Amino acid sequence: MKTYQVNENGYYGEFGGAYIPEILHRCVEELKNAYREVLESEGFKQEFAALLRDYVGRPSPLYLAKRLSEKYGCKIYLKREDLNHTGAHKINNAIGQVLLAKRMGKRRIIAETGAGQHGVATATVCALMNLECVVYMGKTDVERQHVNVERMKMLGARVEAVTSGNMTLKDATNEAIRDWCCHPSDTYYVIGSTVGPHPYPDMVARLQSVISEEIKKQLMEHEGRDYPDYLMACVGGGSNAAGTIYHYLDDERVKIVLAEAGGKGIDTLMSAATIQLGRLGIIHGSRTLVMQDEDGQILEPYSISAGLDYPGIGPMHANLARLHRATVLAINDDEAVRAAFELTRLEGIIPALESAHALGALEKIDFKPGDVVVLTVSGRGDKDIETYLKYSSSNQVTI
Ligand SMILES: *Cc1c(COP(=O)(O)O)cnc(C)c1O
Repeated sequence: MKTYQVNENGYYGEFGGAYIPEILHRCVEELKNAYREVLESEGFKQEFAALLRDYVGRPSPLYLAKRLSEKYGCKIYLKREDLNHTGAHKINNAIGQVLLAKRMGKRRIIAETGAGQHGVATATVCALMNLECVVYMGKTDVERQHVNVERMKMLGARVEAVTSGNMTLKDATNEAIRDWCCHPSDTYYVIGSTVGPHPYPDMVARLQSVISEEIKKQLMEHEGRDYPDYLMACVGGGSNAAGTIYHYLDDERVKIVLAEAGGKGIDTLMSAATIQLGRLGIIHGSRTLVMQDEDGQILEPYSISAGLDYPGIGPMHANLARLHRATVLAINDDEAVRAAFELTRLEGIIPALESAHALGALEKIDFKPGDVVVLTVSGRGDKDIETYLKYSSSNQVTI
């Protein structure tokens, strides 16, 4: 049967694999040999499910947004990952990987972070489980996302400000990989999205797949059928989208719409729309679409949202786009901000800037009146209030 899931060599079509330095081969091999067995073991499943329920607050609600639905002429359900502990979907993955690390006997946890959400999630789980935690973060992001830096420190993590390159997510990831190379035996690297060498993309997708597992049950209750007509999510590296679509990947009745960050527009040099603009290359251990110049130098991505400005994309999503299984739309800064204000005023929900890109895609789709749409609100907008207000006053964005 045709499938969009990973194959046994770690590829999604021509994308994926593990392109890593020699020194990490044993680590990645060890992880590859352990993750399936651990994730499928009864002990892990029980501990993971109990923490998702009692600590994160799952299942997250599937909320029928009536006024938003009226506006777009269909039935829009919001999957509320913004209501999770720490404010986004990232905690699902952080808990899963730290539980795995413990079972692999690793006592030291490292992570990269851009906006700080994955760093906060990892620091949170390390506090809970009494593990050492080091988070790499670009110096630019340390300055832009000060509150998240303070949260990580309060949680007991060490935050390393990275001063190479553009001093953002890509550089933080390079530095985390370098750390891992120096401490391969005692350190576990918690990657925050469906990126990196195999088995990370598949592992992160599996840990986030609790989202679509819940959607199935919740839709059955609300609609009497367990699938929607549309699934919509934003993509940075791709983890909230992967979780949203996981159990529907091979169900062609369900249309998939992914929203990437258009920045100031894909025909400007200020964009992070990797699927539209990228070419085949290798980044952080994975063969995927990469924003690069003629010489293969990685281009600095731009988006108003610090969680979406990554120059690569998960191999699963690159493949879904290549095979036209998913429709990928680039949503620009102003469209995202407008959509965030719209949701706030119609439903009383302030979404994260990242999630606002998924909302911005609503107006680009021709829905039919009976269509059932599930859109994942990946996180809450508390961290973005300043950006919203600044942007809307300088650009006269209102609804
Ligand atoms: C990190 C983040 C994203 C982007 O990451 P994905 O791996 O693509 O999901 C999206 N939304 C929020 C709220 C985030 O914190």
